[in-house]
Amino acid sequence: MNFNVDILETSLRILEKYCLCDHCLGRQFALLARGTDNSTRGFSIKLLLAMIASKLIKENCEERGVYILRILAENGKFSLASEILSRMGVEISKGKPCYICNDILLNLDTYADRIVSLISQYEFSSFLVGSRIPGEIAEREDSLRSEFGLTYGESFKSEFNRELGKLLQSRIGREVDFSSPDLVVIVDFLSDNIEVHPSPLFIYGRYRKLVRGIPQCTWICSSCRGVGCEQCNYTGRKYPTSIEELIAIPVLKFTLGKDVVFHGAGREDVDARMLGTGRPFIVEVKEPKKRFIDLKKLEEEINRWADGKIEVSDLRFSSRSEVKRLKVLSSITQKTYRVLVRFEGEVTEDDLRRVEEFFVGREVRQRTPLRVIKRRADKVRVKTVYFIKAKIVSSNLAEMTIKCQGGLYIKELVSGDNGRTFPSIAEVVGVPAECVELDVIDVSDVV
Ligand SMILES: [Zn+2]
Ligand SMILES: [Zn+2]
Repeated sequence: MNFNVDILETSLRILEKYCLCDHCLGRQFALLARGTDNSTRGFSIKLLLAMIASKLIKENCEERGVYILRILAENGKFSLASEILSRMGVEISKGKPCYICNDILLNLDTYADRIVSLISQYEFSSFLVGSRIPGEIAEREDSLRSEFGLTYGESFKSEFNRELGKLLQSRIGREVDFSSPDLVVIVDFLSDNIEVHPSPLFIYGRYRKLVRGIPQCTWICSSCRGVGCEQCNYTGRKYPTSIEELIAIPVLKFTLGKDVVFHGAGREDVDARMLGTGRPFIVEVKEPKKRFIDLKKLEEEINRWADGKIEVSDLRFSSRSEVKRLKVLSSITQKTYRVLVRFEGEVTEDDLRRVEEFFVGREVRQRTPLRVIKRRADKVRVKTVYFIKAKIVSSNLAEMTIKCQGGLYIKELVSGDNGRTFPSIAEVVGVPAECVELDVIDVSDVV
């Protein structure tokens, strides 16, 4: 049998010129014999070379054998070779750091120690290690590969991330997760810094808004842009609180997160209540320290804190992909409203029956309402009204239940918004009308 021994010959030629640790030598052959690690590959190559050297010494080629052992000891950091030479009384010079990694891969424990102490303040069940590697390392490795025609290697970065990940996994007993880790640890060699990035925590729930006058998201005062002025009573806000804030404060208390982003499945007007089973939302907690939280307790805390302004229910853990679905589906979901409509003149039962008959599965063309045009793009939406049920309250007042497609502006469906919404209730009755009270009473489940 004739073995092709170029791996050994090439390795010896590399070590003659460059000092390489087991990892960095083995990594040049990373794609060969998959299923072991580079350190074992490098060690095995060096061991075989030491055996060949020993054999040469025993077979009267001492000079060549000692030469190989010296290369292994001085440039290969191979202690077995150093020991054989010292038993033979051969002096060797002190080893140098690894040419490619500068001994980084021999000190993974040090990095692991630093990381373990940094992440002790976080709750997590999975993690991922990443790194920022100085360009010189890749440059040295590239030039070595082209010099010796090496084609089976992998990058330093991928070995570093993987090996440190394995070491941490065994230290802390938690899993490496490539797709959605709770914690991402970045070793930055450029600044000698280790960064810990907890992934956002997503919590789904439904809210009911029991009083009017609360916006969904915090609304900054427009005259002072949040700095505080006479108009906003130096609060910097247009409204004292928001649904987002009423939920965020207890959430941050439970998770010790940095910030909260509120994602609602659509929104109701500030002066509309949100009743029924509530509107779905997802809160995204940035950089949470705690993520194994008791959602039942959190729910109780939010409801206690909100003190009757809002009420949340159905809390459960969620995900980034569910946020996307929430956004997409919120516009195609169905909503039901309770509306109090005031007409500028008397209305009759007949008028209301006409409204009911007209708005059965009726498509409404709606140009962005004048009242929101400053904040939204001016475009025409076509939305469906599924049905309207109406009853007279007094001569010019009617209460209506309106079921329609999400995204339809109800106040404009009532008034017609100077012709921007067509058809409208005012137009069908033939009397100008406005919405005086609005409640959302149902948002069909979207996720
Ligand atoms: Zn190395
Ligand atoms: Zn202000």
